[in-house]
Amino acid sequence: MAETLPVKKNDIVEVTFNDLTHDGSGVAKVGGYALFVPDALPGETASVKVLKTKKGYGYGRLLEIKEKSPKRVDPPCDIYDQCGGCQLQHFSYEGQLDYKRGYVRDVLERIGGLSGIKVHPTLGMDEPWSYRNKVQVPVAEKNGELIAGFYRKRSHSIVDMDHCLITDKVIDEIVQTVKKVAKACGIAPYNEETHRGVLRHIVARIGRNTGEVMVVLVTKGQDLPFRKRFIKEITENYPAVKSIVQNINNKRANTIFGAETRTIWGRDVIYDNIGDIRFAISARSFFQVNPKQTQVMYDRALEYAGLTGQETVIDAYCGIGTISLFLAQKAGHVYGVEIVPEAIEDAKANAELNNLDNATFEAGKAEDIIPAWYDAGVKADVIVVDPPRKGCDEALLQTMIDMKPKRIVYVSCNPATLARDLKVLEAGGFKTIEVQPVDMFPQTMHVESVAKSVLDVSN
Ligand code: SAH
Repeated sequence: MAETLPVKKNDIVEVTFNDLTHDGSGVAKVGGYALFVPDALPGETASVKVLKTKKGYGYGRLLEIKEKSPKRVDPPCDIYDQCGGCQLQHFSYEGQLDYKRGYVRDVLERIGGLSGIKVHPTLGMDEPWSYRNKVQVPVAEKNGELIAGFYRKRSHSIVDMDHCLITDKVIDEIVQTVKKVAKACGIAPYNEETHRGVLRHIVARIGRNTGEVMVVLVTKGQDLPFRKRFIKEITENYPAVKSIVQNINNKRANTIFGAETRTIWGRDVIYDNIGDIRFAISARSFFQVNPKQTQVMYDRALEYAGLTGQETVIDAYCGIGTISLFLAQKAGHVYGVEIVPEAIEDAKANAELNNLDNATFEAGKAEDIIPAWYDAGVKADVIVVDPPRKGCDEALLQTMIDMKPKRIVYVSCNPATLARDLKVLEAGGFKTIEVQPVDMFPQTMHVESVAKSVLDVSN
């Protein structure tokens, strides 16, 4: 028998919101049934029109806010209501930070069964704007004109953009200059459907601590018409630019970069520092997007690692060795593992750049390499993990439990998998002491956390 839902399409209901979804919509319960409504904030009461119902949840549109949240603010960005880049500009920054802390705490309890853990207030930014050190803007054609901007909310079409308020101001401006030159020269924007056109993406990144800028023009074919003009306009107007690179992506796929990269002006890399460590960044290398908050997070990770200079540390999922090298300054030896071989090459080069000879890097899966190290006699005092959103592999968690390090520092970009994995570690004898949420991506729903777990010797 079909169950009747508390609401049906086109109903107008008055609801109170108590949560947010992962894409920043408000969540309200009507007789236990969840309604997702864009633009509503927790604590608000509003009339809502039901647009669509599914078995377990439905979607609605905000008609009128009856009781406004004191944390509601006017979003400063002109295209906020269309662009999918940010989700929380209508929420005061203090509200965002509180919400993120509460979310981490709830998830740790609900998924991890970890009640009573100390979850510190989210570490936010003094100035939660213009923080991104990299911008990757897809180019498209609209009514015969070249446009460039981010994808529309819940869609694959592009919203033309003049400014991005969360992007560093220098690179934001450079993207506009490149766009203007492309338009003035009549460069054909790439068209996904016909797989024709020239310019696919404009990418710019800046070393926030050095000021050095790299510009990447991603083209469909080898040819970049008006190459000299691009170089002239960029370098004459922006002395901070140290590198201009062309990347060729001839694939139909949605990935930004193709396999071939060539430097068309200046250096192959730009440099940036996190703390005292210097990194060389090439067009395709991964580098943390908000270096200021990265340092805040690493300082906390370092504190949780409790290093005295003697310890053997394993950094799983090490990328280009950012955490590994940061910790190597205070450790006996650091072993880093990462699945992408190019990132390991970067990590090794970065160790050399910083004259650190107490770090060993190996390419492979953490869940394969770490057990092999363990078999070969490597015994970590501290294990740091920083996995992708899906969290740690089970085999890796088991090896960590077998290896019995004194401390585990878990850096996470997804509280749900953090909670799941901490639960496994608890069952394996590691007690989670405290969790520090860090706001790496203000104005968005993302939240990073650092958790400290210690071997429970009373077991
Ligand atoms: N700690 C790094 C990168 C963290 S992002 C930094 O702060 O910069 C997570 C990393 O895990 C990515 O570089 C990804 O390539 C890597 N990765 C994904 N699955 C992996 C696996 N099974 N084993 C090892 N590394 C993996």
